[in-house]
Amino acid sequence: MSWQGIVGHDKQADFFRCNLEQGRLGSSFLFLGSSGIGKRKFALKLAQALFCQQNDAAQLQPCGDCPACRQVLADTHPDLHLIGVDRAHGKRSIIKAQLVGGKKSSTHESSQNLEQQTAQPAVADTTAMAAGFDIQAGDLSTHYQGLCYQLNLKPAQASRQIAIIDDADCMQDEAANALLKTLEEPPVGSILMLIASNPQKILPTIHSRCQTILFQTLADEQVKHVLLDSGAVETEDQARVLASLAGGSVEIALGAVDGKLVELRQEVCDLLPVFAQQPQRLAAVVESYVSAPKDSPAQRQCFQQVADVILRVFHLMLMQRTGVECSADQIAQLTVTTMLQNWKGDEETIIACIDRTLDAVTQLNANANIKTLVDAWIDDLAQIQICGGYMIPEL
Ligand SMILES: [Zn+2]
Repeated sequence: MSWQGIVGHDKQADFFRCNLEQGRLGSSFLFLGSSGIGKRKFALKLAQALFCQQNDAAQLQPCGDCPACRQVLADTHPDLHLIGVDRAHGKRSIIKAQLVGGKKSSTHESSQNLEQQTAQPAVADTTAMAAGFDIQAGDLSTHYQGLCYQLNLKPAQASRQIAIIDDADCMQDEAANALLKTLEEPPVGSILMLIASNPQKILPTIHSRCQTILFQTLADEQVKHVLLDSGAVETEDQARVLASLAGGSVEIALGAVDGKLVELRQEVCDLLPVFAQQPQRLAAVVESYVSAPKDSPAQRQCFQQVADVILRVFHLMLMQRTGVECSADQIAQLTVTTMLQNWKGDEETIIACIDRTLDAVTQLNANANIKTLVDAWIDDLAQIQICGGYMIPEL
């Protein structure tokens, strides 16, 4: 049984339960782990448990039915503050104004802390306007006073205030710096949960002020269960295909439903058994998929997806060749069976293909030209197979 229906993060729940029982829960936490694995869901469920009016917080079992639990679900709890990148309005980062508010709010503000934090209102204004807030119209000054300010207020309903900062790895430096004081001297009883997937984009000063809670990527089986339980897919085989493409992320799996990635995988699985003879066909499919997006980060992400599909096939081959039990969906299994029947080389040649693919990913991260990279990689894989005595099957 997973904690509150959140798959794969029971240990993290145990950590909080244990600390709550002993009355020594910290104040600032950094939830770190790949995107799309349930960190935000976990944070919200934890907030619900802490606010629940029915069950004791230390049980970590929100009833889901009391007014407070319902408010958390509806995002209307007055003491829960959730911020993140405002992507709906084209923003790419968390700006300082989201933390300390705009100029007008600071002049009316009596809190000493806030006055210190907004000592340079001109900077806050510029940032806010650059991010699209209309200060003249009063967006910020009348409607938003900033997270740090709100946390310093007396709780409206519960015994504490809770803040969840999603996309904490997308905070502008000046926003992160504005948060430091609150992290250092959090208002009594308050809890801050920062959520991030890229530790390298978290300022060391933020990192060191938070207790880091690591979240692992989910196993394919866990992703499969989430997909089936949520009703996102109907059949077990469909769920297995998506899980195998997702690298442990439910978000990626959901993004691949009916998407191009599933088509690509089908094509790659069709071509892999014969690609030693016709590497250019596979290279063309890969290149067309990878070069479809216009910007370079998206192209690299596509390349990683292709590499993952191919790695998955080689891993399955290796496991089945060495008698390790593993489950595969029908498409992957057909490819693996065909390739193994004709694979005259030993396990070392399969490992060589895995190594060569991992090298390609490393080269990509070192900014190699994608087209050259794809051609060389696919050619090398074909050579490894031919040198290993691979027989091209007649399909
Ligand atoms: Zn409740």
